Amino acid sequence: MLRLPEFTYRRPQNAREAATILAGEGPAAMLVAGGTDLWPKMKRRQMEPRVVVGLRHLAELRGVTGSPGAGLTLGPNLTLRELERHPLLLENYPAVAEAARSISSPPLKTMGTLGGNLCVDTRCSYYDQTHEWRQSIHFCLKKDGDTCWVAPGSRRCWAVSSTDLAPVMLALNARIHLLSKDGERTIAAGQMYNNDGIAYLAKRPNEIVTAVDLPAINGDVTSFQKLRRRGSIDFPILNVAVWLRLAKGRKTIEVARIAIGGITSFPFLSLPAANALIGSELTPETIASAAHAARLDSRPLDNTDLDFSWRRSMVEVWVRRALEQVSHRI
Ligand SMILES: Cc1cc2nc3c(=O)[nH]c(=O)nc-3n(C[C@H](O)[C@H](O)[C@H](O)COP(=O)(O)OP(=O)(O)OC[C@H]3O[C@@H](n4cnc5c(N)ncnc54)[C@H](O)[C@@H]3O)c2cc1C
Ligand code: SF4
Repeated sequence: MLRLPEFTYRRPQNAREAATILAGEGPAAMLVAGGTDLWPKMKRRQMEPRVVVGLRHLAELRGVTGSPGAGLTLGPNLTLRELERHPLLLENYPAVAEAARSISSPPLKTMGTLGGNLCVDTRCSYYDQTHEWRQSIHFCLKKDGDTCWVAPGSRRCWAVSSTDLAPVMLALNARIHLLSKDGERTIAAGQMYNNDGIAYLAKRPNEIVTAVDLPAINGDVTSFQKLRRRGSIDFPILNVAVWLRLAKGRKTIEVARIAIGGITSFPFLSLPAANALIGSELTPETIASAAHAARLDSRPLDNTDLDFSWRRSMVEVWVRRALEQVSHRI
């Protein structure tokens, strides 16, 4: 049986106190919300915080405020189950509800949160193993070792971004509120991630996600599609989120944002795919050319489930499916 190592659990009264604890403890401390990523990682010694700061009980980090016409604000403590069932999300931002629905399993969704999902660790076949397994290969660059087994000549880690909600937030151009002892700042979701399997978050370690702003959605349409081995429970090995705005009273696409995750160390926007749509109507031909452009723009890595060249060809299929799905919502 895998056991948790010893650590100190801190239960702050509010987010500001949590930020003060993080500042005081430095790199020895980590936040926990639902714990569905952190606790298993600690059991496998992939993460070894000396202090864990709990957020789950903080009501100020929960809830949905605003309106679709003016934009919604989501608390990071909303559970995946709450996101997948929220009527305002289901009706106006279906990609958010669909991504939340696709994550893990019903019991994990009652614990897992939006904030934890946006910060969830990157994955790799050489890293998501027990301590003993990793020890047998002398560990790897991401934790305790000095070699990347995916690219032994490389000085960086290529572990893959595996969050399902981050691509949706990129496609929606959501804004993320961050709180530290030094104050508050707001960044675009696209500024939250680095293309680096170790330093995958551009958010500083002492910053807490305190809110996520979704934009006003006046008539805009969204969709989400995910590729995984098992439909019932699995991390993404490719996911696609789409947000389209049509010109008023016409069918011409004015703005398109197509985000792709699960294939590189960060979720990214495919500009060539978006450019293939802007100024055109959504037809089988424009969908096909956007999907093809997305495939050319994607380079999956060989360090997660299923063959990477097959996953690259699936980018075209999954972008096409996401666009076909969104075309039914116009
Ligand atoms: C079997 C299994 C299947 C899974 N399948 C999927 C899947 O298909 N797709 C997917 O995306 N994920 C999946 N997950 C991962 C995880 O369950 C989800 O990503 C979940 O949403 C994480 O939320 P949490 O609150 O439990 O995170 P936690 O484990 O509490 O935290 C995760 C990370 O986020 C940080 N964090 C948490 N809250 C905040 C905050 N407010 N501010 C700053 N940092 C914060 C923590 O410090 C930690 O680094 C799976 C996990 C398991 C065990
Ligand atoms: S990509 Fe390389 S360094 Fe990163 S987790 Fe995998 S083997 Fe380790």
